Amino acid sequence: MLFNLKDVFASHGAKKQLSYSLDMSAISFNGAHPFFTPVKIDAFAENRAGLIKLTLDVSYDHSASCDRCGTAVLKHYDKSFEHIVVTELTGDADDEYIEAPDRVVELDAVAESDIILDMPSKFLCKDDCKGLCTVCGKNLNNGNCSCKTGRTDPRLEVLKQLLN
Ligand SMILES: [Zn+2]
Ligand SMILES: [Zn+2]
Repeated sequence: MLFNLKDVFASHGAKKQLSYSLDMSAISFNGAHPFFTPVKIDAFAENRAGLIKLTLDVSYDHSASCDRCGTAVLKHYDKSFEHIVVTELTGDADDEYIEAPDRVVELDAVAESDIILDMPSKFLCKDDCKGLCTVCGKNLNNGNCSCKTGRTDPRLEVLKQLLN
């Protein structure tokens, strides 16, 4: 979606707003498609004494498998990202600044990179997820299994002695 900011650039105090839905369902991570519903985007631009501030309020559902137990984790996020739109980047490239030489911002690309950069590197169904038993594979959040925990594998003991 193109967000034309020519009017906003033209006068101090000018504002512009745009709301739309972005389909990010084609984006995949490890074969999974986390953004299974359209992402709601509210873009708001304002000229503050010549500085063009762009705020993106995004609202989206996200699904992923828990990194420890594999259970599907479904979460809803409401996030807000802020940028400064410039016609020419002067310093080093920075996530904060968006370069728009023709004063038009391609919102899809900005929103996608904001959302993806903001994603946590780990997904857990809950902070204290107990994960799966390494012996029998049971999901330990549903109760303990009958495997003896803390047991030392005799083969590992031999290896340990060899290494010492
Ligand atoms: Zn889990
Ligand atoms: Zn077990």
